[in-house]
Amino acid sequence: MAGELILIVEDNEKNMKLLRDLLQFHRYQTIEAMTAEEGLRLARLKVPNLVLMDIQLPGMDGITAFMHLRRDPLTQHIPVIAVTASARTEDRQKIIEAGFEGYLTKPIKVKELPQQVRRILDGKASASRNRDTV
Ligand code: MN
Repeated sequence: MAGELILIVEDNEKNMKLLRDLLQFHRYQTIEAMTAEEGLRLARLKVPNLVLMDIQLPGMDGITAFMHLRRDPLTQHIPVIAVTASARTEDRQKIIEAGFEGYLTKPIKVKELPQQVRRILDGKASASRNRDTV
């Protein structure tokens, strides 16, 4: 089932356009923030089904923003995919240890992104269906 709402947090306009176009092509609805602070505001306001979080952002970084999302009862259930230009192993490790549901490296691959988004959204959906039937 497509049509889910995805919040994109990304400070680079070209990357934002690519992510938006790709997600909309796959029939997702998108909302956008160019800073972590604005992303947190929108996440609380709209409670999206998933967040794509750039890690390198002006001001607050994406990992700190992710921690804020996890601490807030309103947003703690929302899956978050980290998007980073860094392929360094220690950065990757830091992101995985932080608890992100997914991890994508730039440049964004047009097949990998929708596949990972779908897999995570489907995982969440079946988890909540299972909870409902218990
Ligand atoms: Mn960035």
